[in-house]
Amino acid sequence: MTAVAYHRPACLDDALALLAADEDARPLAGGQTLVPMLNLDLLAPTAIVSLADLADLRGIAALADGSIRIGAMETHARIAASRIFAAGQALVPRAAGHIASPAIRNFGTIGGACAHGDPVSDWPVALVAADARIEIAGPAGRRGVAAADFFLGFLTTALEPGEIVTAIVVPPVPGRAIHLRYSRIDSDYATVIVAGAADIRDGICRSVRLAVGACGPVPVRLAAVEDLLTGRPLEPALVAAAGRMLAEAIDPLDDVRGSAAYRRRILPGLVARALAGVA
Ligand SMILES: Cc1cc2nc3c(=O)[nH]c(=O)nc-3n(C[C@H](O)[C@H](O)[C@H](O)COP(=O)(O)OP(=O)(O)OC[C@H]3O[C@@H](n4cnc5c(N)ncnc54)[C@H](O)[C@@H]3O)c2cc1C
Repeated sequence: MTAVAYHRPACLDDALALLAADEDARPLAGGQTLVPMLNLDLLAPTAIVSLADLADLRGIAALADGSIRIGAMETHARIAASRIFAAGQALVPRAAGHIASPAIRNFGTIGGACAHGDPVSDWPVALVAADARIEIAGPAGRRGVAAADFFLGFLTTALEPGEIVTAIVVPPVPGRAIHLRYSRIDSDYATVIVAGAADIRDGICRSVRLAVGACGPVPVRLAAVEDLLTGRPLEPALVAAAGRMLAEAIDPLDDVRGSAAYRRRILPGLVARALAGVA
């Protein structure tokens, strides 16, 4: 590695000032992506700004409207273990618990994963399905961006230079959680992810939200699919039609985890299994 300055600011304002002073500085969260990229010479920042001591980026707390605010520095493991999501946001710990292996879950953070913006990772699709909001602080102040508008493409997000993800806010998600992923082995990134929630009683789908991940530059969620399923008996033909619509809408790559054709082929089956699991 080339020489790199290391800063460990004690507060958010100091971290923002350090990033504003050096456009080649990088925030460091859990290091599970940044450190391998440094080791592989894929990045060469002039400085690393650790977010470890920023109290604003910690904590998992319920808000008055029933939403849950997750500090950006909360690890996947802490989120997976938290009981706070049980009543309204069960999708969140389910997604967290499926990420990688325990070692990576113990260090990797939700804020780091969002900022990295890798479309094969588990948070983008789960947060789009949950209608979550990404909270950001930067040189121009604070702002919030809907998850659907935050993940813009492969390793591309709505973050502007010098901005830090401070928290993720997840509103209540009606229905039972869905987070189903196919991966070649446990602890690998997924080949296909289906995330969302559904309320299915007596065979009738009362509400549903479904997003597909790892199948293109951004998560895919279709209002037409959710409208098709809502209010109807979940007959196999209807579920198959929903799966086909999603398979036609995704834009997957051929890669080591599966060809584009393979992803399109297995997606309808995962959708059917997800809905059957809820029912
Ligand atoms: C072997 C392996 C397997 C993995 N498998 C999976 C998987 O199955 N599913 C999955 O979802 N993920 C997986 N990951 C990724 C893992 O979840 C990482 O934890 C995550 O991508 C990055 O989080 P981090 O906290 O380690 O961020 P870091 O590595 O510290 O940072 C990542 C990037 O985000 C920036 N950054 C970090 N925090 C912030 C912030 N708050 N604001 C602005 N910028 C910030 C950094 O500058 C850097 O560019 C895997 C990683 C490895 C090494």
